Amino acid sequence: MSNPFRDLPSVARVLEHPALVAARARHSPGAITAAARAGVEALRAAIASGESPVLDVAEIAGRVAARLDAEAAPALRTVINATGIVLHTNLGRSPLHEAAALAAYEAGRGYLDLELDLATGKRSSRQDAVRSDVCALTGAEAATAVNNCAAATVIVLRALAAGREVIVSRGQLIEIGGSFRIPDIMEVSGATLREVGTTNITRSADYEAAIGPNTAAIMRVHTSNYRVRGFTKAVELAELVALGKKHNVPVIDDTGSGQAVDLAPFGLPGEPLVSAGIAAGADLVLFSGDKLLGGPQSGIIAGKASHIAKIERDPLMRAFRLDKMTLAALEATLRLYRDPAKALSEVPTLRMLTTPLAELRQRCEALAGRLRTLPGVAAVVRDDIAYVGGGSLPDVAVPTAVIAVTVAEVSESELAARLRRGTPAVVGRVQGGAVLLDLRAVFERQVDELFAAIERECGGEPGA
Ligand SMILES: *Cc1c(COP(=O)(O)O)cnc(C)c1O
Repeated sequence: MSNPFRDLPSVARVLEHPALVAARARHSPGAITAAARAGVEALRAAIASGESPVLDVAEIAGRVAARLDAEAAPALRTVINATGIVLHTNLGRSPLHEAAALAAYEAGRGYLDLELDLATGKRSSRQDAVRSDVCALTGAEAATAVNNCAAATVIVLRALAAGREVIVSRGQLIEIGGSFRIPDIMEVSGATLREVGTTNITRSADYEAAIGPNTAAIMRVHTSNYRVRGFTKAVELAELVALGKKHNVPVIDDTGSGQAVDLAPFGLPGEPLVSAGIAAGADLVLFSGDKLLGGPQSGIIAGKASHIAKIERDPLMRAFRLDKMTLAALEATLRLYRDPAKALSEVPTLRMLTTPLAELRQRCEALAGRLRTLPGVAAVVRDDIAYVGGGSLPDVAVPTAVIAVTVAEVSESELAARLRRGTPAVVGRVQGGAVLLDLRAVFERQVDELFAAIERECGGEPGA
């Protein structure tokens, strides 16, 4: 009788195999030995429980090497976003312009004059890098930036209204997702929410009746991710400003999406312009840096200098301040807006959102033609709709083109899962028996990789 334990290779023999010798270039000797030992022990346990595992040294060493590589791979991986959703929050919202990504890279790998005035040798504010561009964009006299718009809301409410009341319409008590709810944010900041009006109707008189000695501010919140339609009435910002002036109460405008170039001519109406709030007389305007602005995750606060100074003195500012890499990327993004036409054609988020349908169809046809040369692959181009995402323009169905891909003998959900787990990962949409690939948010540089990802999934094993 053969003894399978005797056929089990020793750890030393597995370690001598060329696959693991080569692995020494990528992994520490300790990690390789531990992985080889664990591999051999797992086989010993399998034999002990009556199984007959393959005991070939090459195969064992290959598996150990593959496992070491998989464990060493970073958890954050590149994704080809073929969903058509440009501001996909789960995929990191706005991709940065090359100049912004490069600025973050340079800031990250070295030193910079973050808080040092090189001309005078004196200490400066890190906010100086973005202040003037934000002021130019919004028309505000002062500005500051924090980690995101949620942080901006908290710090603004704290600095202006802690221990006092802030009046908000019941139609604007939003939840953005991830437990960002206006009533909760209000509580965290130490301000008291004073709700007025109803879900669908709030009038100027409702706000006015709520104003009293304890009122610190009136806040308007843009209903970013939903719209109230039908029998509705909300008070225009200009009217709130007039009310605020009459009673000497500041008006805060949380606009959310950060639209700095008008996208309405491109079929994307309904988001407030970042300059509209200040033009209407709001004391402070808040918006995200990584939604329609197309920059890094950040929250921008623009408005009256006295309020901005108060916000910057708040102890929480230290906790909410931007790091050097984000600040560098934000500065580079804002610079692109000095020429709005250039921003429109170069900021990736804006360029993707405004790509003409005919161009998308053409790009889809080109890739579909290549995909159809693969065995077992069907690729049909058709029109579809997509959404902007990231809690912007919730009711604007954006006309788009997609490639409906199927691979023989692979179900659409299996195909989507395999594409998702590949390198680079590809995320599309599963619908109507096919995987839909929308090229709107796919960079030109990724098209060959996208093709290769599908090539790998047809005809079985790679190279078979
Ligand atoms: C998106 C949004 C926020 C939160 O912004 P983040 O930058 O994601 O923190 C706050 N308010 C409004 C109105 C928004 O649309």
